[in-house]
Amino acid sequence: MRVHKSESAFFVFMTVILGAGVATILAYDALRGSVETLHQPEQLETIAYLSKLLSAAGVLLATALVFGVFFIYPLLRTQAREEGELRAMTASLSARSETLEHAALTDALTGMQNRRYFDDALTEYLDEFRRIDKPVGLMILDLDHFKQVNDTHGHDIGDEVLRAVAKCLKDMTRYHDVVARLGGEEFAIVAPNMDKERLFALAERIRKAIAATTVVSGNVRLKITASLGLATWDRKESAEAFYRRADKQLYDAKRQGRNRVSA
Ligand code: GH3
Ligand code: MG
Ligand code: MG
Repeated sequence: MRVHKSESAFFVFMTVILGAGVATILAYDALRGSVETLHQPEQLETIAYLSKLLSAAGVLLATALVFGVFFIYPLLRTQAREEGELRAMTASLSARSETLEHAALTDALTGMQNRRYFDDALTEYLDEFRRIDKPVGLMILDLDHFKQVNDTHGHDIGDEVLRAVAKCLKDMTRYHDVVARLGGEEFAIVAPNMDKERLFALAERIRKAIAATTVVSGNVRLKITASLGLATWDRKESAEAFYRRADKQLYDAKRQGRNRVSA
């Protein structure tokens, strides 16, 4: 067993106090035993013994005092400080790792979840919903002719549009929906508890809301549209297969002329 410095100091302190206590008891004992005869000259030896014991007790108590003030107290102070520093360090480390984890799962431009989060969440949702008899909807959304926006108005305005679309998606979804930016100008929504009809209705509302949004930056006023592909989980397929189905619908929506929902 490893004995800490402060523990050894405590044992020394207690031993010294114990020594002082023993000396005091012996002195008391000697005094009580010979209190009536103490004035007789042959008791000089006892008196000398008593005085030795009492001074030993005094010295031991003084030692304990000095030891406590100059050794034990600073030791305790140091220990408390080190412990405080350690605790602060641990707290800042765990806060940092939380921030890192958050950054790894968040899209920096829009503040929404990123592709990595989406992939994990979709797999988790399907695992969960396999057990309960409830539908899961998936929506993939891609902005139309977004390259033109960048080419005509510049990348910064393009970013502005992406943020506006992200806000629109967040405003129109429920708290347990997963809303993510998959990359570029492509977004996805996992909507648990949503059957085909309700998913389609939501997709139409989102499409219209995006088409009705005007992005204003300086004297530029910009309109944008999006195409959406939908799929409802068949309760058997993998997350990848489910995603591919929705993606295929997105491709169809593009092919049919954009600014539409395909299911
Ligand atoms: P479509 O209707 O077929 O989807 O055409 P599109 O122009 O939207 O598609 P395309 O894939 O040709 O172009 C996507 C553009 O998105 C190209 C790229 O410059 C732009 N883009 C990707 N990521 C970002 C981004 O973070 N910021 C901005 N401003 N533009 C981006
Ligand atoms: Mg596009
Ligand atoms: Mg795209």
